[in-house]
Parts: sequence; structure tokens; C-alpha cells
Amino acid sequence: MLPLTVRIIHSVTYYAKDASAPVDGRERERQMSYPPGIDPAAVPSGPGCADCEEQGGWWFHLRRCTQCGHIGCCDSSPSQHASAHAAATGHPFVRSFEPGEDWFWNYATEEYYDGPMLAPPQHHPLSQPVPGPAGRVPAGWEDRLH
Ligand SMILES: [Zn+2]
Ligand SMILES: [Zn+2]
Repeated sequence: MLPLTVRIIHSVTYYAKDASAPVDGRERERQMSYPPGIDPAAVPSGPGCADCEEQGGWWFHLRRCTQCGHIGCCDSSPSQHASAHAAATGHPFVRSFEPGEDWFWNYATEEYYDGPMLAPPQHHPLSQPVPGPAGRVPAGWEDRLH
């Protein structure tokens, strides 16, 4: 009898300690609140499409990967870097990085999603033109959209 009682008390103490640990509690709450692929703490990679900036390209609208913060260009843009990022990494969600837009898109289910507030900034700088960036958008860009 005595050894069993001692074991039970030890177990209860162990789990009670574990549940009250603040870091574990926050982590558990974060994982329960959002589906995989959405990390509200992920910061945007920059003001423009990360891949277009690297390649000297231009974009129409911008999308933000909600898992790692990668900024990519939309599917109407010549290079469609946001979709390419999702396909290459398996990161399923983007949120619009356009001023006044807060919708999420899930590439895996091809559905819009109502997601949480993300780390700032919420959109590209208002001074940045659409399409962008300034100086790299060709004449007749409308004809080059997808
Ligand atoms: Zn791009
Ligand atoms: Zn990503």
C-alpha cells in the first residue's frame, strides 16, 4: 500500500508543476489557437517581394507567408513568387500584404481563412507604388499580368 500511495503523490506533483510552467502554458495555448502554418510572431521579410528584389523583377500585389514571414508576389504578378514559396516549403497560408486587406488564403484547401492579428507591419509601406517597386515596372505592365 505505501509504495503505491507514494507513487501517486509523486505523479500528481509532477503534472501540477508541469501545467503551471509559464512557457509550456503559453506554447500550448499558441498551438491550440492557430492551425499549423500560422505564427503570429513571424515578422515580414521586407517591404517588397523577397524573390523579385533578388532577381530585379517587379510585382503587382504582395502576399505574406504566415509561417515564416516571406513576402512574395501574387498570382497575377509575372513571377508568382508567393505560390512558388508555398509549393517549395509546404507553408500553407498567406495573408494579403496590401493596405486595408486582412484575408488569409490556404493553398492546401484553396479556401479563404479568418486568421489572427499578425506581427507588424500589416502591409507594405503606403509610399510604395502598386505595381512596384518604383522604377522597375515596365510600360504596358497591365498586359504582362496573369
Ligand atoms: Zn516576386
Ligand atoms: Zn514561408
